Amino acid sequence: MKNISILGATGSIGRNTLDLIQRERDKLKVVGLTGANNIRLLAESAIKFNADIVATSNDNKFHDLKEMLSGYQVEVCAGINGVLEVASRQVDWVMSSIVGSAGLLPGLKALEAGANLALANKESMVAAGPIMKRVAEAQGVKLIPVDSEHSAISQVIRGEERDSLSKIIITASGGAFRNLTISELIDVTPEQASKHPNWDMGQRITIDSASLFNKALEIIEAKEFFGLKASEIEVLIHPQSLVHAIACFCDSGMKAHIGPSDMRHAIAYALYEEKRFNLPLEEVDLSKVGTLDFEKPDLLKYPALKLGFDVLEQGGLAGAAFNAAKEEALDNFLDHKLSFLGMADVVRATMDELSSKNQLSSEVELEAVIDIDRQARLIAKIFVDKF
Ligand code: NDP
Ligand code: MG
Repeated sequence: MKNISILGATGSIGRNTLDLIQRERDKLKVVGLTGANNIRLLAESAIKFNADIVATSNDNKFHDLKEMLSGYQVEVCAGINGVLEVASRQVDWVMSSIVGSAGLLPGLKALEAGANLALANKESMVAAGPIMKRVAEAQGVKLIPVDSEHSAISQVIRGEERDSLSKIIITASGGAFRNLTISELIDVTPEQASKHPNWDMGQRITIDSASLFNKALEIIEAKEFFGLKASEIEVLIHPQSLVHAIACFCDSGMKAHIGPSDMRHAIAYALYEEKRFNLPLEEVDLSKVGTLDFEKPDLLKYPALKLGFDVLEQGGLAGAAFNAAKEEALDNFLDHKLSFLGMADVVRATMDELSSKNQLSSEVELEAVIDIDRQARLIAKIFVDKF
């Protein structure tokens, strides 16, 4: 029996993970589940999967959650300490699928407790990749990519020599506004940005896909997972979202990963630790697809991507600052206090401010990451009023 916990069980990735577990209940046992505000789904999942412990990160929801689970043999806790308690339970495999930097400490706790960590929470790799890798190595556990592009990269480079790899191409759908011009982007709303053409995901990553902030995070995530330099990563807009990554080799050969736009493919690959599982997903019918398009992204239209490459080159604490400033900018866009294009302006101004004070070059240690995260949010808040 493989013991499993899911951090962020009520979200898009969490629900897809539970869907896979449901298919193999005789081999997979759910130990812990966490959520934040959707405690009804959290309670239902705890009952359905017979979990041992659940936590809501929202202290105010504790009593309601406890009441929903009264009469069931399940430990209920709340707040960040509750989430960390779930993360610290000894299991074989943990899905890290909390959204945002809130996923960092729980993911680290799971690694420290000796679990193999499937990482959907790209923000923790962007902010603290070196720490995540160090802890995983010290514990002798695996850090497994779940992001579809990174799962795809791990599949196409498998069995290849590192020296023979010349470049990785990561694809981006172009998000909700792929066909809009820069001037048409001026007035777009959070509601419009929340509609992804190909993927069904949480709201924040969907908006980040429209701005390409998501792709900016992903190139940094790729650097951390696969030891790639900026010059070894290319991003191409690929509207069909079927080719997720392409590895280019020194002999001019290329290997592409093609798969459905369904996260259960990448989650299953992580769940079964790189073994293939018979999934009832609809195969991509290339004869029906007909054409696969690729084009270079327009960096004027997608300034976030240029920022992402700068951060990748900068290293140090730049990733943590970038992610925090981006989260603050996104919160303000969602609150209609900042325009869609203003998000990149705020993040750039925040990064310039921190760089000019030489704040980003320190070693990536946890305390420094938490501190720069706090500073970046405060500075970004100030810039929100200026843009
Ligand atoms: P969702 O918004 O759908 O789910 C987020 C999860 O995190 C929910 O369980 C939510 O609880 C919980 N949560 C929210 N805020 C907090 C907090 N402060 N503390 C603890 N838990 C919290 O997001 P997704 O599933 O789309 O994304 C999850 C992660 O996976 C992100 O890092 C995203 O970038 C990454 N990812 C997602 C993909 C996708 O297809 N969705 C693809 C690749 C990566 P509740 O709902 O109960 O409030
Ligand atoms: Mg992705």
